[in-house]
Amino acid sequence: MELACLDLEGVLVPEIWIAFSERTGIEELRATTRDIPDYDVLMKQRLALLDKHGLKIDDIQQVIATLEPLPGALDFVDWLRERFQVIILSDTFYEFSQPLMRQLHWPTLLCHRLIVDDSGRVVDYKLRQKDPKRASVMALHSLKYRVLAAGDSYNDTTMLAEADVGFLIHAPRNVADEFPQFKSVATLAELKAAFVDASDRPLTM
Ligand SMILES: [Mg+2]
Repeated sequence: MELACLDLEGVLVPEIWIAFSERTGIEELRATTRDIPDYDVLMKQRLALLDKHGLKIDDIQQVIATLEPLPGALDFVDWLRERFQVIILSDTFYEFSQPLMRQLHWPTLLCHRLIVDDSGRVVDYKLRQKDPKRASVMALHSLKYRVLAAGDSYNDTTMLAEADVGFLIHAPRNVADEFPQFKSVATLAELKAAFVDASDRPLTM
């Protein structure tokens, strides 16, 4: 039996914090782990900025609801779900990804949670576990599934290494160069072909 595991941001949807920063005009929200490598420091800064601008969870979701999946992403996910059980493994938060997951017709998503108080203020966040993408693939292996996986960046590489076959898609040059062991594809159409090739069953495009 085979499963397909996909990263979300950069693969199927835009980078949510960057898009959110563009929609709100709050420039400091563009910062990513490339600017502030300590994820905890970065998230605390993001939550402080949400507070400073008075953004509650409803406001945030309304902005995110104006974002759309990347071109072709819904068709790709529909195609994949007919041929594999599909699981999205993401470092995003359920509360953030909800408007985009709705547009992708709610594939299974394993990610993290925001902690929101009664007034709708985002007070904290809860990471599900350490190295969650890799841990998820390990868990699926323990259930005797063969796992094909695809992602776009550093936080995907342990998932790709743990999977039976791992692909990079839309990866920045430096990531593709640093991890030549993973076939790197540029488009969802190429990823489709790569999944067909890597499957141990006869599949059609
Ligand atoms: Mg990504």
